[in-house]
Amino acid sequence: MTERAKPEKIRCDACPVMCYIADGKIGACDRYANHGGDLVRLDALTIIEGTDQKLVPFLSDTPADEWDGNIVKGDRPFVTAVGAGTTYPDYKPAPFIVSQDIEGVDMVTVVTEGIFSYCGVKVKIDTDRHIGLERDVVRVDGEPIGHVMTSEYGSKMLSLGGVEHLTGGTKKEGRVTCDALLKLCNREPVEMVIGEDDHATTLVVEAGKAPVINGLPEKLMRVGCGSATIGMFAKQWLSHADDVVVVDDHITGVLSEHQAGKELDVPPTGIKILGRRSTPGRYFQVAEPGTGWGGTDIEDPLAILGPFNPKVAWAGQRLLMVSTTGEQSGYYELDTDLVPQPATMPDALRASCDLIAENCEPSICSVLFMGGAGGSLRAGVTENPVRLTRSVKDALTHVSCGGAEAYVWPGGGITVMVDVMDMPTGSFGYVPTPALVAPIEFSLRVSDYATLGGHMSEVKPVSSVTGETRKVKPEAHGHDPMAHTNYRWAKGDKP
Ligand code: SF4
Repeated sequence: MTERAKPEKIRCDACPVMCYIADGKIGACDRYANHGGDLVRLDALTIIEGTDQKLVPFLSDTPADEWDGNIVKGDRPFVTAVGAGTTYPDYKPAPFIVSQDIEGVDMVTVVTEGIFSYCGVKVKIDTDRHIGLERDVVRVDGEPIGHVMTSEYGSKMLSLGGVEHLTGGTKKEGRVTCDALLKLCNREPVEMVIGEDDHATTLVVEAGKAPVINGLPEKLMRVGCGSATIGMFAKQWLSHADDVVVVDDHITGVLSEHQAGKELDVPPTGIKILGRRSTPGRYFQVAEPGTGWGGTDIEDPLAILGPFNPKVAWAGQRLLMVSTTGEQSGYYELDTDLVPQPATMPDALRASCDLIAENCEPSICSVLFMGGAGGSLRAGVTENPVRLTRSVKDALTHVSCGGAEAYVWPGGGITVMVDVMDMPTGSFGYVPTPALVAPIEFSLRVSDYATLGGHMSEVKPVSSVTGETRKVKPEAHGHDPMAHTNYRWAKGDKP
């Protein structure tokens, strides 16, 4: 009997897990494999190409004959960190440090897939509907992965992930959080439950798509709060209704009491709103938050009205009630007891409700990845990491994620935020520590790179990047990390 040779295992050193991988097998993160004894990154390096936007003359007084409208950027490639691979520990230089001449300036881009232990997503959900109270816990598979933040104008906000959930809880919490973040960042849907059993909401979030709240896809975000809606549409209601109520969980507006109504000489109607009066014609807390009219829990708008004042109101008075998206509306006339009775809505008011809906933008989910480029990641760029941080703050180094524009937070460190819709598909990976793997590129002048102690011996011309690559078009906004306008030196400031 011949002894079978054991397959030779190789050790992956691209993250702290340090997998032993047998020939033909893949590591724990599905990103690296043992291919005939060689450790290979399984996803192709992604290169953005085809930046063929025409640039316009910078100065309006540029003589026409000095501007031929030529394509300036041509097919210049930008090597993203997607598929570039990680280095661990990070005193090793980043996997790709590539140089190219950009309009007469020697530029270098340092490219690495960062392992982000401190990371998460901020999610903006365009809806008025109640999805949870501020600080309500967001759960996936029963595990807490984040919480509800305060609302923004027409949108609900979630903070998901972060180191507290990735590593600060149980092992399962960290694994579920990492998996949810990975899916959200790679634009896949994730179902989550917000709040406790007595007020739980089921929500499906997918970047760039409408949220699905308790099984119903959301359609529109509101045109404005109830007060703003009164201001915007007041003129259209004159002579067609005696009063209009715009039902909104935030501010419910009443035409006859609102400043817009006063200025348009709308007389008092004796209407009474059951809510907390803020300023004339503007009411808070007319109902509980919910998934009904205007983000309240009501299905019958008359529920927010008290009895009409008999000294002011009159029989036959015409009342329009409408939500902030125009999706719900009702028309009523007061009977002889001054009680609103449903009636057929006049065409002019129907058209006005339709116009409110038309002015609403489609409801979508926006997912912004947020992470901190830590001390070790920076060491892959320079032997003096704090100089990189300073260089970013000084606008000498431009940070991008998968070629997309990254907002760098003020203050210490390099904490970035980027819209995942601007990044190439499949930009994110994970390691089981658990942490997210995200692409990050640092672009700067070669001279500045030398000054901050960069790994100069590792700089290679971009033409040397060969092998299997994935070519993608620039994202819709066409952000160009190498554009001179990103850098302080191009603006005439002294470096
Ligand atoms: S988890 Fe992935 S990156 Fe980390 S050691 Fe294993 S194969 Fe390498």
